[in-house]
Amino acid sequence: MRDVIVIGAGGGGPVVAAELAAKGLDVLMLEAGPRHAKPREQWTHFENDANNPLTGYFRLGPSDRSKPAWFREWSQNSFVWQVAGVGGTTQHFYGNYPRAYPGVFARYEGSDADRYDTAHRFPFTYSELVPYFEWVEATAPVQTAAMGTKEQVYLRGCETLGIPVQTTKTSYGAGYRPQQNAILQPGGNAGRTTDANLLSYPEATGCTFCGYCFQGCMEPVAAPRNQFAKRSTDNTYVPMALTADAWSPEGRPAALIADAYVTRIHTEQREGELVASGVTWRDNASGSEQREDARVVVMAGGCTENPRLWLNSGLPNPNDWVGRGYTDHFFDWLVGTLDEYTGNSKGPGSAARCDFPGYGGLENVGLPPALEAFALTLSDSGIRGRYDNGRGPTGPWDGQAGRPIGPELKDILGHGVDNLLNVLVITDDDVEPGNRVVPSAFPADEHGPVPKVTFPRRQRSRRTLQNREFLARKAAELLRGAGAKQVYRIDWAPLILHVQSSMRMGESERDSVLDSNAEARWVKRLFIADNSALANSLGGPNPTLTAQALATRTAERIFQQYFGGDPWVVDGQPVVSTDPRISRRLAELGL
Ligand SMILES: Cc1cc2nc3c(=O)[nH]c(=O)nc-3n(C[C@H](O)[C@H](O)[C@H](O)COP(=O)(O)OP(=O)(O)OC[C@H]3O[C@@H](n4cnc5c(N)ncnc54)[C@H](O)[C@@H]3O)c2cc1C
Repeated sequence: MRDVIVIGAGGGGPVVAAELAAKGLDVLMLEAGPRHAKPREQWTHFENDANNPLTGYFRLGPSDRSKPAWFREWSQNSFVWQVAGVGGTTQHFYGNYPRAYPGVFARYEGSDADRYDTAHRFPFTYSELVPYFEWVEATAPVQTAAMGTKEQVYLRGCETLGIPVQTTKTSYGAGYRPQQNAILQPGGNAGRTTDANLLSYPEATGCTFCGYCFQGCMEPVAAPRNQFAKRSTDNTYVPMALTADAWSPEGRPAALIADAYVTRIHTEQREGELVASGVTWRDNASGSEQREDARVVVMAGGCTENPRLWLNSGLPNPNDWVGRGYTDHFFDWLVGTLDEYTGNSKGPGSAARCDFPGYGGLENVGLPPALEAFALTLSDSGIRGRYDNGRGPTGPWDGQAGRPIGPELKDILGHGVDNLLNVLVITDDDVEPGNRVVPSAFPADEHGPVPKVTFPRRQRSRRTLQNREFLARKAAELLRGAGAKQVYRIDWAPLILHVQSSMRMGESERDSVLDSNAEARWVKRLFIADNSALANSLGGPNPTLTAQALATRTAERIFQQYFGGDPWVVDGQPVVSTDPRISRRLAELGL
């Protein structure tokens, strides 16, 4: 019998595993996808080899790439980027670590309080989460992003918006700023040269400006795994969990099994309560099934797989909220063409942002060529100015929104990927009960009935749609201010990569699955510790920092509630500031 089983080693699961392994608990992490233990042998900078969602090494599928990817039903025009494997979707991610806006938490009393999704707030205050934000920010670590040419051009556009520079980690109002990123700043030769011979560790440390964050960070060459620049969990919390005895006085190394797909959560009745008692998992390679019991089970399989596993396990769903409230920041994408070099394909993928609390945010995103072409083609308005004439929204961009094709697309890309500037619109979108995961009518796969995800455009609330329009206009204004000659709005179809809140915690038991400790309302000893536990879309900020802060708090609650541990935060003060492992870690990183 294990102390704790964690299902999923993506953005959230390894946080709980590392924190509880550090306290000496016997922790097992089960990860459905592969473990890339030798990235320099397994990864490339070839975009299709990495990013193709069906065949790439980053896909939702087993280690064996000759086997098909796992199927899910997406019943509308949309595109999903969720990755299976140790590190989960953080292997793809850009490491932007802004904090959630205070307005999405309980008892917020700012003058803009009614601008947020007030029906679906977190069941505790912002200040209660601050020590856990700080804990994760110190552990990752989170640093101010390195600036290059594309940031210089983007910030020039921001200066024309009439909003101030933001200098605090908490967003109190509209502002623009360099990102706070979980990417190590360049040191030594990094960022100063493109000569590959000079970009090896330890002569170069941190981000080398290679521009391939999307394909898994393996920079600088020859760096040990935990010194790779981008702090995806395969470079941070996973190694920490596996070596907990080396850095924590009472630590015990966690166990990790990759290619292990959990197909069932087991429960039993104890003293009149339904209690989680273990899991069954399937070995992707052999197809054999094994059962493992534990005192506590933590789900961290992501927003789509958690509801699927819950429903396939026959767990209770009395208020029918399992899988509901799938928020995705209803993204949009605007691109400007400039007559100058922007360095769009270089440096940390996203290093500068604007915040508009109550509406959402804008981010500069740099992309290599194939992804840039992809980003220009995913539209809900059809082909720009053609068959859907009259449908694509108009505004301060050129012509109608929609996807450019033919000579126009050629012209944009022919301009040169490094003469473009991209702005990602990140909408503060409402929790909508109709946006949800349900069992698909398609045939089951080897892991049981497959999930169907629906988020009909018509079910977006008025506030969500208005926020998106507000931000798209700001993005166009920014691009013009930066010097763009042409501005294109694509009107993206749902692009699922900031997915949140499908197993939400909430103030009311009528519309939430988790209580304020992230424990399932109807199954004791069952916790959720990933993006699906979030109460809402955070107001727009990228979700991983908040999900990891919440997962840290959840680990603390598990330790206190079921293993007799002491709290890790006392009187609002994080133990982190005095925790010797943090100073050791910062020293190790030379910070
Ligand atoms: C291109 C891109 C850029 C992004 N950039 C940012 C960014 O800059 N900042 C930010 O905050 N966020 C970013 N994100 C989002 C970020 O990746 C997610 O917030 C984060 O990975 C979510 O963590 P998670 O644990 O909820 O899910 P995941 O990371 O998807 O992890 C879930 C894991 O569980 C495993 N799993 C699922 N079901 C089972 C099962 N039944 N048994 C065993 N294992 C299972 C999966 O294989 C997966 O590894 C980005 C995403 C993409 C695609």
